[in-house]
Amino acid sequence: MTLIVQKFGGTSVADPERIRAVAEHVAFTKKHGADVVVVVSAMGKSTDNLIKLAHDVSSVHPGRELDMLLTTGERISMSLVAMALANLGIDAVSFTGSQVGIITDTTHTKAKILEVRGDRIREALAQGKVCVVAGFQGVSTDREITTLGRGGSDTTAVALAAALDADSCEIYTDVTGVFSADPRIVPQARKLTHINFDEMLEMAGAGSKVLALRSVEFARNHNVPIQVRSSFTWEPGTWVTSQEPSMEDPVISGVVTDVSEAKVTVRSVPDRPGISASLFEPLAQSNVNVDMIVQNTSSDGTTDISFTVPKADMKVAESIVADVAKQIGATGISHDDAIAKISLVGAGMKSSPGIAAKMFRILADEGVNIVMISTSTIRISVVVSSSDLERAAGALHTAFGLDSGQAYSAPLPERK
Ligand code: ADP
Ligand code: ASP
Ligand code: MG
Repeated sequence: MTLIVQKFGGTSVADPERIRAVAEHVAFTKKHGADVVVVVSAMGKSTDNLIKLAHDVSSVHPGRELDMLLTTGERISMSLVAMALANLGIDAVSFTGSQVGIITDTTHTKAKILEVRGDRIREALAQGKVCVVAGFQGVSTDREITTLGRGGSDTTAVALAAALDADSCEIYTDVTGVFSADPRIVPQARKLTHINFDEMLEMAGAGSKVLALRSVEFARNHNVPIQVRSSFTWEPGTWVTSQEPSMEDPVISGVVTDVSEAKVTVRSVPDRPGISASLFEPLAQSNVNVDMIVQNTSSDGTTDISFTVPKADMKVAESIVADVAKQIGATGISHDDAIAKISLVGAGMKSSPGIAAKMFRILADEGVNIVMISTSTIRISVVVSSSDLERAAGALHTAFGLDSGQAYSAPLPERK
């Protein structure tokens, strides 16, 4: 029998009406003869609200306790979706990540999936039931409850699709697919009918949150085709697969924007071997994901180092950097939250020289100052002031021939 994994994000289950709409869709799929495993996120902004609650109660947040708290969000949605299905006469059963054997490493709040057992799902499916699984969570090799990092329900869905050898993995969200840019930032964004894993991986890595990075890694490693589509319009979405891009595809497939990072600058760092290691090793040990790094040329034997980290890791990063700065005799630390990263992604870049030069010229003509630059074979990223974000992204989107010719017209629900 066909097996379909359907994942519903936070806005798709934000209120009772949305939950009933999701249940109707799942029931429709089941009644047409497929087995269905549903993966749900927490309702609306509830994960953000739980994090805020933790901050209101305490200034220390042990990872174990944070994970115990955050996993409750998905537990609420899984049971409500199962009830809404029961109301439609569908035999449904909800499970936590731990109950279905999603085994992770021990890194609280950013755990990696090591294994998916899935026995209880197989048993329930064999009994003709629809399984509703809480996304974003697992149980560690130390038998503690863990979460998979923000947006991690996508990863749950793809990991389950791989483990259960599902025929398809559908990621339902609040936009109608993967676009050439975030339609909230660039209204002229074009819906892509197809994108391959490598490009999607670069887009997710560059900060496009339409799919969580780990979910795309998982999909590529296990060759799980994904369809990203809307739970508001239910129209066909974007396929993410291993298919190679064709010669007719545009050189640039997307402009990715990311405002989730902040920049840290350490001034007057002694310019001698081992200093970068002493700065970045402790950050890595604390699981702070450093993204871009820039080091100035030295004068008087000292230099400045700037790097970006997720805003969510800023507090941890700042205390580590303050300690290291003291040890190595660096004089000052500053940070800037008002930055945005803009990336061009496209497999065609490999065979088209001059993309970076064109990007810098377009930004210069817009009067946008570039603070940092980094590249990969199919991506160029720049950091600019967040006040320039929409203008810069729009100008790049137009200049690289990506405009769709009409503004995004499907509903765009208000977000966190
Ligand atoms: P969910 O709660 O369903 O997981 P997310 O907020 O994680 O939804 O992801 C969907 C959002 O991703 C959209 O509302 C959109 O603003 C944003 N987004 C960013 N980049 C893109 C893109 N290239 N294509 C489509 N959506 C994008
Ligand atoms: N609820 C979690 C979050 O907001 C996981 C997810 O939605 O995928 O990050
Ligand atoms: Mg998401």
